[in-house]
Amino acid sequence: MTAKTALITGGTSGIGKATAELLHSRGYRVMVTGLGDIDGAGLPGDVIAVEADAGSLTDIDQAVDQAREHLGSLDLLYLNAGISRPGPIESIDEAAFDALFNINVKGNFFTLQKALPLLNEGASVVFTVGAGEGLGAAMTAAKGALLPLVRSMAIELAPRRIRVNAVSPGLVNTPAYSKMGISQDTIASWGEGVPLGRVGAPADIAEAVAFLASDGASLITGDNLIVSGGIGVHTRPM
Ligand code: NAD
Repeated sequence: MTAKTALITGGTSGIGKATAELLHSRGYRVMVTGLGDIDGAGLPGDVIAVEADAGSLTDIDQAVDQAREHLGSLDLLYLNAGISRPGPIESIDEAAFDALFNINVKGNFFTLQKALPLLNEGASVVFTVGAGEGLGAAMTAAKGALLPLVRSMAIELAPRRIRVNAVSPGLVNTPAYSKMGISQDTIASWGEGVPLGRVGAPADIAEAVAFLASDGASLITGDNLIVSGGIGVHTRPM
């Protein structure tokens, strides 16, 4: 049987890296993109890592060319690259607003568009969404805009049996927080506010992505798999 293939954007750290490692351990051929942290990412030697800014159409084109060259076609496209600019309305300037929408929305849209010819029949596309409460209007909008994209793309690509879904992490302990200067003790203390009593690990999200990519999820499309330990369940629609 030929190995399955996966392209993971933002796969050099945190959630994307854990997903690359999990899929690699399950026999996938994996390519990741990242920005500024490819060297020293510590991924298995045969995982291909490419520097590509998800906010640059030129970089996206080059990354998709590399995926074609190294992987041929794709069974999973995991659109995980994203940036955070949490904060109240007054704190968001034009540059922060543009960066949020360029990378989280425009970058993901065009990566999918460019990678479409590579997607096999039956392939899975997964977006990382997840905007918790209290992150502010701009951040919530930039992540929230992905859900209508997921649903529309799911219907548009269904004739090719390509499934499009989202994973929405709650709080996950990744280097994103240490880069903001938040200590491990503080991150662990956030678990007290989570119904299941702990902050997530990157591997928790990786397992959800691996499931959505698997044949076991072959009837799931246009959906959003929330992996949060129960954060916000009371306010979700029935
Ligand atoms: P991280 O900082 O550990 O990793 C971010 C990854 O994205 C790295 O591989 C980095 O190289 C890459 N990246 C950053 N900017 C990029 C750009 N412009 N172009 C290409 N790649 C870029 O962060 P993480 O916590 O693993 O976050 C991954 C995704 O999960 C993001 O979309 C984030 O918004 C989302 N998310 C995280 C949490 C959490 O609690 N950690 C919660 C909800 C959603």
